[in-house]
Amino acid sequence: MYWEKELETIDRKNLERLQLERLQQTLRQAANSPHYGRIPEIGRYVQSGMASIEQVHALPFTTKEQMRQDFPWGFLAADKKEVVRLHSSSGTTGNPTVVYHNKHDLDSWTNLMARSLFAAGVRDTDVFQNICGYGLFTGGLGFQYGVEKLGCLSIPAGAGNSLRQIKLMRDFGTTVAHVIPSYLGRLFDVFQEEGLDPRKDTQLHTLVIGAEPHTEEHRLRIEAMFGVKAYNSFGLSEMNGPGVAFECAEQNGLHIWEDAYLVEIIDPETLQPVADGQIGELVMTTLDRQAMPVVRYRTRDLTRFLPGACPCGRTHRRIDRISGRSDDMFIIKGCNVFPMQIEGILMKLPEVGEDYRILLETIADQDEMIVEVEVKKEWFKGDLAFLERLQKQITHLVRDEVLVRPRIRLVAAGSIPKAEGKAQRVFDHRKT
Ligand code: ADP
Ligand code: ZN
Repeated sequence: MYWEKELETIDRKNLERLQLERLQQTLRQAANSPHYGRIPEIGRYVQSGMASIEQVHALPFTTKEQMRQDFPWGFLAADKKEVVRLHSSSGTTGNPTVVYHNKHDLDSWTNLMARSLFAAGVRDTDVFQNICGYGLFTGGLGFQYGVEKLGCLSIPAGAGNSLRQIKLMRDFGTTVAHVIPSYLGRLFDVFQEEGLDPRKDTQLHTLVIGAEPHTEEHRLRIEAMFGVKAYNSFGLSEMNGPGVAFECAEQNGLHIWEDAYLVEIIDPETLQPVADGQIGELVMTTLDRQAMPVVRYRTRDLTRFLPGACPCGRTHRRIDRISGRSDDMFIIKGCNVFPMQIEGILMKLPEVGEDYRILLETIADQDEMIVEVEVKKEWFKGDLAFLERLQKQITHLVRDEVLVRPRIRLVAAGSIPKAEGKAQRVFDHRKT
């Protein structure tokens, strides 16, 4: 069952033909923007045309820094009159970047969203609650229009206010919800405080989780807590937002929609393509955007192509869950550490609660990694010998994984401050 069978199951040869056509159209359009208008390679291909999509490698990359430098209009490739909406990134790692859409762009994005949700099994009979920020953040309106196009009853709940979220779910029989994974722990705690069990007291069967890195262990935990299937949704505002890559019912990686994006994975050091199946930085070119085409955008997200065909029949390649951003990695005592390595360990332990954070501090002239770990209420009861054992166990597991001995600080469930939107995992207070 497909949303658009022909496009979703297109064979490689026809897909590449379509990509080449769309890439050339994209370059012609991009050349109208002040930024790409200055780039000689783009001008050259607009003049001579492209023989194959491989030639994309000859084009320069686009970076977030360039988008910031050319703020606010430098990437706009259409008449302002045509533009009907702008979005900007949440600015997790600095100043936001802005993206413009005309009507065609919004239709195309909406369609990708509907296609993605359909692939994850969402149908027009579902009641869909969108629990995330509306406004400039793309997760709000991006999902909203996709869900409406699919034909579900949509509940544009917005972020926060867990009691209200639970009431909406129960009053209207929500069957699917889109939620940032780091918020789900909080939501579950509130269910419990109210004496409710989401597995019995709601009709939820599916959660769509995305917008921030999370591990397979975290997903399994979410599925068990809520009694649902949880599907991974990936996107970034520079590439519209959600609807870039999505898991199908097989839950075996995320189909990245190759009719709308040309996808490369490169080594962030050498900037050359990695060998097939190797982890590298995702680089993407929009293929169906008019107001603001983006060529070879360096997402800084790390992933790999997964081998083999998907049993669902969709031919668009699958990427692995994002293991982190290249700029998430920190170095402590000479070791490279990604927060997701630590999350993977914590989420496997049943005593560990829903949240954690990593503090990097200088203590007596030594750099130290302190991991604050929430412990579930039923385990955090003053049995000091038990807590000591747990602390030791986590210390060993983390040290074996990242090769640095951490200081583990066990804290009560709910005591780590929650971010408004995406969770910040690492706080670096080291003296340089
Ligand atoms: P910002 O870059 O300011 O956070 P966005 O809201 O555009 O702005 O966020 C996009 C980023 O969020 C992606 O580049 C990626 O790092 C992260 N992200 C989005 N979806 C996922 C996902 N499913 N898994 C991991 N990371 C994700
Ligand atoms: Zn599939």
